[in-house]
Amino acid sequence: MSDCIFCKIVAGEIPSKKIYEDDHVLAFHDINPIAPVHALVIPKKHIQSVLHVGLEDGETVHKIHLAIQEVAKILGVAESGFRVITNTGEHGQQTVFHIHYHVIGGRQLNWDM
Ligand code: 5GP
Ligand code: ZN
Repeated sequence: MSDCIFCKIVAGEIPSKKIYEDDHVLAFHDINPIAPVHALVIPKKHIQSVLHVGLEDGETVHKIHLAIQEVAKILGVAESGFRVITNTGEHGQQTVFHIHYHVIGGRQLNWDM
């Protein structure tokens, strides 16, 4: 997807502060953090949203979960806890249409964050 900002981050065309990378997944710091820890975990493959994940994406989805574990350990929130959020569509306030998993922590979170 040539006009996708996260595909450009995967391609290295837009810089990011990388936390973790493997063959399927990239994790980097959110540019506008809402908590002391705010990372984004994305598949390298362009998938628009939760609604667009297919059976063929099984390994990718699995590796996203393993990457979240790594990110939580690297950023020091595995013990204290954290939240994983995937905003979807208009009411979910999704603004980047390349699926991403916010990993948020480093302070006490409430439902209104
Ligand atoms: P959404 O609102 O779609 O759930 O989340 C998009 C997230 O991407 C936001 O938290 C926003 O701060 C982050 N973001 C948008 N553009 C960039 C960028 O160029 N670099 C980084 N690191 N994060 C970005
Ligand atoms: Zn993309």
